[in-house]
Amino acid sequence: MSDMAKTVIIEEHGGPETLKLVEREVGEPGPGEVRIRHAACGLNFIDCYQRSGLYPMTLPHALGMEAAGTIEAVGEGVVHLAPGDRAAYSSAPPGAYCEARVMPAAQVCKLPDAISFEEGAAMMLKGLTVQYLFHRTTPLKAGDTVLFHAAAGGVGLIACQWAKSEGIRLIGTAGSDAKCALALEHGADACINYATEDWAAKVRELTDGKGVDVVMDSVGKDTFMGSLDSLKPLGMMISFGNASGPVDNFNLGILGQKGSLKLTRPTLFTHIADHSACQEMAGMLFGKVVAGDVKIRIDQRFPLEDVAEAHRTLEARRTTGQTILTLG
Ligand code: NDP
Repeated sequence: MSDMAKTVIIEEHGGPETLKLVEREVGEPGPGEVRIRHAACGLNFIDCYQRSGLYPMTLPHALGMEAAGTIEAVGEGVVHLAPGDRAAYSSAPPGAYCEARVMPAAQVCKLPDAISFEEGAAMMLKGLTVQYLFHRTTPLKAGDTVLFHAAAGGVGLIACQWAKSEGIRLIGTAGSDAKCALALEHGADACINYATEDWAAKVRELTDGKGVDVVMDSVGKDTFMGSLDSLKPLGMMISFGNASGPVDNFNLGILGQKGSLKLTRPTLFTHIADHSACQEMAGMLFGKVVAGDVKIRIDQRFPLEDVAEAHRTLEARRTTGQTILTLG
């Protein structure tokens, strides 16, 4: 087997044209590491932030945070994986856009046989994110109402199904009527086209003027203030992304004026830094998928060579559900 692997790197921050396919030596795993041969890689919006420099990296750097494949070798001290195991992960450091790599083992999880490699590659980063949003960020119970932006996206369609499976009322937003229809099909109780409607007013209307318990906002700049306006007093704003740009210069006093609101800005990588927490979260995610409560909908597939086109499509809001990069 060749020790060289096609790998996508960037040498400078910028647009999709900076993505470059090179051949790299894979090497052998050291203590606490595994060598994994990928069957497919996941595409995530964080990859665009890292490429553009919104989240700066030391350069040159490989890109990609999620993939699935077969373990080829394990380093000293790795006991939860063995050569031949099917596995999937969402993990730092970036470098998942490749045929094979050596990486830390702690966040690599054994993939149940009932879940395909493509599903595994598409679901780890987005599914673990939904797990921590619904179970590790603020207490949520059946009957609570959540406002979830970009509900027809990768994280969004998983969130719609997750909420449904736990009796949580999810009001989605999305950028077109077709996307809203998709969110409704996947379990959203309502979905507002925020390109055409006064969505914050509509949220009030849908909650009898009360507002929602929690907002999960990954759109950032364009929705942040409207999201705060959609909350009940004492409600929780979870700002977890910047698809429209980062939220700058926020005056904390606004949280008091709008009803003692709470605000948090979490990242998945804090939640999965601990090996046992990561494996436990993955166990819950796999359980939902195997039970059929959450279906992984892969709407776009791009060969690894076409990664720049994949980034363009994601950033132009032309995707729904999950997107993967295929190999071979
Ligand atoms: P999506 O598939 O959801 O794609 C992003 C969507 O955001 C678009 O399809 C679009 O949907 C919406 N959007 C709104 N405004 C813009 C804009 N100006 N430009 C581009 N898109 C816009 O991506 P992912 O599922 O990969 O990620 C969803 C979000 O969650 C991202 O912001 C990501 O960074 C964040 N995230 C955060 C994590 C964390 O732990 N903090 C972990 C995982 C994801 P529409 O057309 O319907 O508006």
